[in-house]
Amino acid sequence: MNQKISPEYVQTSLAASLTLGFKSGSFHRNAKLKGLNLLLHYEEGCLGKCHFCGLSKTRLEGPKGKTFIRVDWPVYPLKEIIAKAKGKDQIHRVCISMITHPRALEDTIYVIKQFKSETDLFISVLISPTLILRKESLAAMKEAGADRVGIAIDAATPQLFDQLRGKGVGGPHRWSQYWDVVRMSAEVFGEFYAGIHLIVGLGETEREMVQAIQRGQDLGAHTHLFSFFPEKGSPMENHPPPPLRQYRNIQLARWIINEGLGTSSRMKFDGDGTLIDFGIDIVPLIERGEPFMTSGCSGRDGKVACNRPYGNERPSGPIRNFPFMPEKEDIEEIRKQLE
Ligand code: SF4
Repeated sequence: MNQKISPEYVQTSLAASLTLGFKSGSFHRNAKLKGLNLLLHYEEGCLGKCHFCGLSKTRLEGPKGKTFIRVDWPVYPLKEIIAKAKGKDQIHRVCISMITHPRALEDTIYVIKQFKSETDLFISVLISPTLILRKESLAAMKEAGADRVGIAIDAATPQLFDQLRGKGVGGPHRWSQYWDVVRMSAEVFGEFYAGIHLIVGLGETEREMVQAIQRGQDLGAHTHLFSFFPEKGSPMENHPPPPLRQYRNIQLARWIINEGLGTSSRMKFDGDGTLIDFGIDIVPLIERGEPFMTSGCSGRDGKVACNRPYGNERPSGPIRNFPFMPEKEDIEEIRKQLE
């Protein structure tokens, strides 16, 4: 039987599938996808057991028809994806998610090389630190043509990480290994050519999240922020998304830290760890709107290419990560959410 597995086949996000014309439809408020997110695909799936993830081995629905970061990920031949991506000026970057599988490193390098030789897209890899035991593996990805990597730390504290991704769920991931790979990635790819993913709302306080963002910054990695959304069938399907105020606070803090406008040590928190003082005047930052846009790897224009339209919420809103510059009414709403 001809199995549709990587590296000849990969999954695309639903947004990528629409943008490439595999499926028809358009985005709410005419959002334009600028980064193609791809995912390696194997019959056995990902060997991780992360409690919040739609790809987790512990997910109740079984291996078929899975979603990952809330949306469907259809499978297509790599060749067809590359052919369709070639004619799309709107696409600046492709991101290959490794997932945790013994073949993932080798296949990722193969997919990078295919994109590098066939297109002029920038290439990111969302790496699986559990599979990266040596710096040479990162260097091989860079040599193949990737210019940036992301590391999905996801949980902001070692306790939450362990509980949701590590020993607590019998999963293979280790907190210290993830951060070691962040450090190595910044060394291999260059300062701020590595990024970390953090998910707000897994049970951390605002102080803990801000400290994780600062830790990334100190190691040379900007934060790409996500808002927890319960994946149906995952063990956390009944866990609520974080309140909007909490998410907006963290978006502002991330902007301040990543833009070098302040540090976590200059911010103040109350007894529950809630952010009460950012250390700078946030009024102009709110007006500006940019801190509430999706954070991710940049494109040809130096702006965020990985804008993941509606990857965190339903298009009906409220929008958490804006895939475009928020408009006047959006800013008004954000202001209210922050009150
Ligand atoms: S921000 Fe986007 S492009 Fe960059 S590593 Fe993360 S998912 Fe990939």
